[in-house]
Amino acid sequence: MHRTHVKVLEGVLDANDTIAGANRADFDAHGVVVVNLMSAPGAGKTTLLERAVRELDDVRVGVLEGDVQGSLDAERIASLHVPVTQLNTDPGFGGECHLDANMVRSALPSIPLDEIDLLLIENVGNLVCPAEFRVGEDHRVMVSSVTEGEDKPLKYPLMFRACELVVINKIDLLPHLEFDVDRFLYHLDAVHPGVERLLVSARTGEGIGEWREWLVRAATREPSIA
Ligand code: MG
Ligand code: ZN
Repeated sequence: MHRTHVKVLEGVLDANDTIAGANRADFDAHGVVVVNLMSAPGAGKTTLLERAVRELDDVRVGVLEGDVQGSLDAERIASLHVPVTQLNTDPGFGGECHLDANMVRSALPSIPLDEIDLLLIENVGNLVCPAEFRVGEDHRVMVSSVTEGEDKPLKYPLMFRACELVVINKIDLLPHLEFDVDRFLYHLDAVHPGVERLLVSARTGEGIGEWREWLVRAATREPSIA
């Protein structure tokens, strides 16, 4: 990478972290725990969110949907009667392929922070830059589907290192795939040793109880979560 480019990027990231800190202070002031969900496109983030929203009857949930364009995912979540805010990175933010702290800041006035305990942020589907940009979240969750292959942690190590939980989704498809779960976990442990992991199927509901419990622990600030 060209040296000037590195300097510019560092400057951008410094500014981002300052704004992320301001977001975090606002979330804390309202007692809202924030989880940032990251993944490749199509890994099942929205379906996992729908599951979470349906199952978390004792936690007041809000959702911030990040997409380059459109509001299809937000409409799916809104049909579950929770507050949803859509953040489109195009064109207002130049069609960015990730959320950054400033974009999330611009959405804060539309999020009813006094009425929720847990804000779930669905980041833009991308395996590279979301890991670079903190948005003021308490926790980061990486969703990886078994259709993506066993080598994903080795190809995108930063994403798998930047999270506290890896949700391995679509395990109902395992009988139809060559995917070797042990091999994936071996690669995962090579880049992020011992990171918490859940095997789930958002479609069939397998493992969703554990996903729910993790979110409840996060929302109630239990120290067992890093
Ligand atoms: Mg989605
Ligand atoms: Zn990006």
